[in-house]
Amino acid sequence: MQNVPDESSISPALSHFIAAHSELAIKGGPVVIREGAVTSWPAANPRHVAPLRVVVESGRYHRVNHPIVTALERSVSTFACGREVRAVGSGTAAIHIALDYFRSRGNQVVTAALNWPGAVGPIAIAGLEPVFVDVELGTASLDQDLAIEAVNPATGAVLITHLFGGNIRCPRLRQKGRANGTALLDDVCQSIGALQRIDNGRLLDSDALMLSGNGAKHLGAGELGFVVTDHSGLIDHVDRVSLTSSSRNGERVFSPDTLGFNYRPNVFSASLARARLAGMDEQLSARRRNAAFLWPKLRECSGLVPLFDTTDGSHSFLNFPLRLDLEALDLPHGPAARDVIVEALRAEGVPVWVWLTKPVFDYLPAFRGKWSAAEFPNTVTLLDTMFYVSEIAPPNGLGLMQAYADAFRKVWAAMPELRADIRQRAAE
Ligand SMILES: *Cc1c(COP(=O)(O)O)cnc(C)c1O
Repeated sequence: MQNVPDESSISPALSHFIAAHSELAIKGGPVVIREGAVTSWPAANPRHVAPLRVVVESGRYHRVNHPIVTALERSVSTFACGREVRAVGSGTAAIHIALDYFRSRGNQVVTAALNWPGAVGPIAIAGLEPVFVDVELGTASLDQDLAIEAVNPATGAVLITHLFGGNIRCPRLRQKGRANGTALLDDVCQSIGALQRIDNGRLLDSDALMLSGNGAKHLGAGELGFVVTDHSGLIDHVDRVSLTSSSRNGERVFSPDTLGFNYRPNVFSASLARARLAGMDEQLSARRRNAAFLWPKLRECSGLVPLFDTTDGSHSFLNFPLRLDLEALDLPHGPAARDVIVEALRAEGVPVWVWLTKPVFDYLPAFRGKWSAAEFPNTVTLLDTMFYVSEIAPPNGLGLMQAYADAFRKVWAAMPELRADIRQRAAE
């Protein structure tokens, strides 16, 4: 289990010096960020044991009407400014349930080609038909105009994925959906803050928001998901998709009409989520503070472009997504530049990662082969050029963000040298 990192061990003066004067770590030079300086999410902490112990002491490890699960649903509802909440087994389950509920509105689901397979798989599980649209280069979310064009009388739902903790408002698309009787579904699995008043002080105009509590997301609670909605019919529908029997009101009732997917929430995860939700405002503030500190420093690296709206202070920053502008950097097309730069940054100790490398339909057997990447040029550009800095959550703080920035500067200063490596890699 990890302790709070010792930030004093990263001397700003030293990391500046290393950044300015030495060879890249990938070429054998000294690293900017030493091993152990970064706390990886979910920032495991001995404090997390207490909520697990409470479940053991309750003597019940099961059932949706466990008082801990009910209390969590109430807390998430408060966090979501009063919308109704039902806990389920995962974010994926929440998306399936919502799609299934709104299926009577039409069998097509408009969604982005750059997407998380867990967001799009449920379209197949629900027996619906995806309609993929390309994404915007600035936010990696579905292109509003293309999505508006794609909406037609057969469109049952638009599935709006809020990647990386970004807020995706797309007001014109929501208006078009409303006028067409289309369900507006928001996958906020990576963006817990989008449950709050992020739209000019208002809640998003949405029929359902689906949240994940898995260990990689803000709640960092193991395996867990939530359906968040104003439709009480959808709350009832959770049981119909999920449970063959329920005991919400005390006695055990067998459903006469069930899909039986068994999407019950894990009580241990629910208890941990409840404890962590109590600190969510602080967590989000710390992520936003780190991001606000980091971006002005990284923007000095030419050709490095943010994948979020830098004027919006209310993103949830699950991570810090970026892309390379290959033209500005005079680098060849394809993934070689991104791959070499990511390797160089990782060697310096920066936790940067490449995300998906294919459009979402190529990950899903039900959809593979029916679309080609070439139909989605912005998606291809992003798949070749994007990456993200992963550990920007507390207890990591500004000292570490400064070290990330120093490492980026060091790598950018060595770009003439890296350019040769990149050209060679691209030619292979
Ligand atoms: C994590 C995630 C999901 C699925 O959530 P799970 O709880 O892992 O099933 C869906 N959509 C997006 C965008 C996600 O990041």
